[in-house]
Amino acid sequence: MGRFILTLDQGTTSSRAIVFDREGSIVSSGQVSFRQYYPKPGWVEHDPDQIWESQILAVEQALETIGPDDIGAVGITNQRETTVLWDRITGKPLHPAIVWQCRRTAHICDDLKSQGLEDYVRNTTGLLIDAYFSATKIKWILDSDPVIRDKAVRGEVCFGTVDSWLLYKLTGGRVHATDVTNASRTMLWDINRMCWDERLLRILDIPRSVLPEVRDSSGFFGEAEIMGRKIPVTAVAGDQQAALFGQTCYSPGDIKNTYGTGCFILCNTGDRKVVSESGLLTTVAYSISGKPAYALEGSVFNAGSAIQWLRDEMGMISKASECDELAEQVGDCNGMYFVPAFTGLGAPYWDMYARGAAVGMTRGTTRAHFARAVLESLAYQSRDVIEVMRSDSGVDVTSISADGGASASNVLMQFQADILGISVVRPVNRESTALGAAFLAGLSAGMWSGFDELRSIRKTDRVFAPGMDDSRRDLMFRGWKKAVTCAGKWAEDENR
Ligand code: ADP
Repeated sequence: MGRFILTLDQGTTSSRAIVFDREGSIVSSGQVSFRQYYPKPGWVEHDPDQIWESQILAVEQALETIGPDDIGAVGITNQRETTVLWDRITGKPLHPAIVWQCRRTAHICDDLKSQGLEDYVRNTTGLLIDAYFSATKIKWILDSDPVIRDKAVRGEVCFGTVDSWLLYKLTGGRVHATDVTNASRTMLWDINRMCWDERLLRILDIPRSVLPEVRDSSGFFGEAEIMGRKIPVTAVAGDQQAALFGQTCYSPGDIKNTYGTGCFILCNTGDRKVVSESGLLTTVAYSISGKPAYALEGSVFNAGSAIQWLRDEMGMISKASECDELAEQVGDCNGMYFVPAFTGLGAPYWDMYARGAAVGMTRGTTRAHFARAVLESLAYQSRDVIEVMRSDSGVDVTSISADGGASASNVLMQFQADILGISVVRPVNRESTALGAAFLAGLSAGMWSGFDELRSIRKTDRVFAPGMDDSRRDLMFRGWKKAVTCAGKWAEDENR
């Protein structure tokens, strides 16, 4: 096989292409942004053709000097849940892609809840009923236009998440497929029996024929035509699951945390499907040779966004890395806490009326304390989610792997280790998402032999060992809980 793996990393705001070598190092890359459409408040759309064109341009950039000849296999990773419907006969999109963030189907979700379907959906799909997931987006498009619905009934419509759409285009319309990680974000996939759920399809009035074939995350998907050459696509995985894989979280209890705009935390639970009592999602982590591994997923809504806020709205810093420099000047927050509940709080509080709070300040509180409190809030919120993962799953968590923009902060990484009482491992290559898709593709294509080899490839930049004694950790975490109480239900009266 060729010397390199090409990953297509199709994200929410840009399409990227990254070439990896056998050592997991980046050889070359390309990136092309595309337009976001906001046709109404709360609505978010992409143009499927622009997604495709930007992706191909990114590939051409990445292959500009090395060419396609040395590429042995292609892996695809993608923004999850975003919904594309296209014409099976012409291959043309039938509607703008409805992006995962789009809230237009909230009323359909309310209706499903009022039918008492929450337990059924959670036990079958592992998900909470929410507009994020593809199911209600498909229904919305089919209901919006009788012409599309008629075509769908005749079997002439394909639905796909963005991976399926790219795969279809790459293979010249020959393959209509997805992988289990993406299927498990549609709210139509039964994670127990590993098949589409007929009851949910019936309730949502979605014809079975629109759905893609579902395959392992690592395995042959089809031949892609790239710059005049045929190259096998051997992996597909949703972005967060790919990051878990790239972080080599292959054992139950392995956790990765991506510190981006929000935090995305996934915990491998092995062959156990843990149903959360606290609002975490159960999802497929990956599937290889017909054997699925599962994960618990939790997220923090506002993480790096709080650092952006400090820069853009408060003007306290001029760039994100300055937060670290300020925080380093002080060893602690001098008793202050910051709760970035700008849009409410997720697990384990689920309080959409919570709002931001800064508490515990004295006349001695400085800008440095404030900056540090903002950084620490990412770690406290992550601990909240990880504690729930521990208690829901009963797994023993011994370390977490970090990536994402804010994992550059040494203060944050050290404090995360301190407040969790476990080590935080930061890899050299923090492109975990693209690397994970490359790992999955290379496993199937025979570039790597198995998990042990992948673990040996991943190089650690730094391990942050916990250095705080138990009593101080408990004291500080109690303070955080008190601060959260202050932020809680703050805006409850707003709509009265
Ligand atoms: P996303 O993929 O969600 O856009 P990224 O993984 O690119 O996010 O991370 C961007 C976030 O990381 C921003 O919110 C930014 O505030 C934060 N960030 C970037 N560099 C640093 C840093 N040195 N210290 C703290 N936060 C940082």
